[in-house]
Amino acid sequence: MGLKKEIEINKRVKPVYRNFPMVPRVVFGAGSFHQLGDILLPFRKNADAPIIFLVDDVFEGSEIKRQLPAIFNDLILFISADEEPKTQQVDAIVERIRQEFNEVPSGIVGIGGGTLLDLAKAVSIMYTNKGSAAKYQGWDLVQKPSLYHVGIPTISGTGAEVSRTTVLMGPEMKLGINSDYTTFDQVILDPDLTIGVPKDQWFYTGMDCFIHCIESLNGTYLNTFSQSYGEKALELCKEVFLDSLDPVSSREKLMMASWHGGMSIAYSQVGIAHAMSYGLSFLLGIRHGLGNCVVFQYLQDYYPEGVALFRQMLKKQNIELPVNLCASLTEDEFDQMCEISLRMEPLWENALGSRWRQRIDKNALKEIYKKI
Ligand code: NAD
Ligand code: ZN
Repeated sequence: MGLKKEIEINKRVKPVYRNFPMVPRVVFGAGSFHQLGDILLPFRKNADAPIIFLVDDVFEGSEIKRQLPAIFNDLILFISADEEPKTQQVDAIVERIRQEFNEVPSGIVGIGGGTLLDLAKAVSIMYTNKGSAAKYQGWDLVQKPSLYHVGIPTISGTGAEVSRTTVLMGPEMKLGINSDYTTFDQVILDPDLTIGVPKDQWFYTGMDCFIHCIESLNGTYLNTFSQSYGEKALELCKEVFLDSLDPVSSREKLMMASWHGGMSIAYSQVGIAHAMSYGLSFLLGIRHGLGNCVVFQYLQDYYPEGVALFRQMLKKQNIELPVNLCASLTEDEFDQMCEISLRMEPLWENALGSRWRQRIDKNALKEIYKKI
């Protein structure tokens, strides 16, 4: 086909593509955390406009606490990641900041895993937008730009450091605030911060990244943009979980795998393990990484190669997944879990195509949940 003709056809069809924000600034390197003070300096408006540090409470009393570049009237809040972030929790933190300071904060810094990163994103949005965080769960509901916010992951896998969403448990359901204002303004990737992550948690959160890759690469939404990131992330995950890397390379590679895995789902979607893990989280409070793992092990009919790799990884890393997690649930609760999961329509459509309702139903889901 001639170029002229091709341009003509393109003009007639005019597809509309999504216009995604990306993290505009990122530092990568072991020990880079010490640069945080210098990075924040130009964003400090004045001595009365604090930086608010939201830090996972595992770091209370640690070297990280001592290195925090808190000056003037900056506020450091240590927050537990035992439970995943909630809309009310975000509202309470925002209220506290409003009460305590007359000036608008210069910025919000989140230090921790997906839980703390999501809290920092949500607080930075909710400081400038009215009402409860629950009002903004969904797609593109945020009206006003967020405060300057910085993300510093201390465990790798979720991709929360690159994504344009912050996943919150709301009064009605667990759902992200997906918006262009959610994405971090700055990320610091310091693989040394992940030293000390307990092995099981390292595996569960790392598998979140692996599962992002499998769900994205096998999804119907896949395009070359997503594929290029997904393939790289998958390659890195295989190295980390199947080869015998030295600890330094392992930390660095998993951190970059998380980044690429997060980029891969920006332009596509996750799939069945995520849809089902949302149900587990809502009814049983099972955390994201573990929830994905316990579901994914039974998805061989949908992701045969991915599940085979996953089993090899479990074996190589000597991980035993917990069993009988759903043993105490009633039939009604199983039904509720299936309903929550089936409401995640884009995830099912990505996994099984536009006619997904003909390929999966409540009974098939219940059968999987009962094995967990
Ligand atoms: P997490 O933040 O829930 O932390 C898991 C555990 O690891 C916690 O006990 C925490 O204290 C501990 N931990 C973290 N860093 C540590 C360190 N360096 N040393 C010792 N312990 C450490 O874990 P996660 O799996 O990263 O995040 C899960 C959350 O991320 C969920 O709430 C999920 O909804 C969210 N998520 C968000 C996105 C997104 O795009 N926004 C994507 C995926 C998941
Ligand atoms: Zn995930």
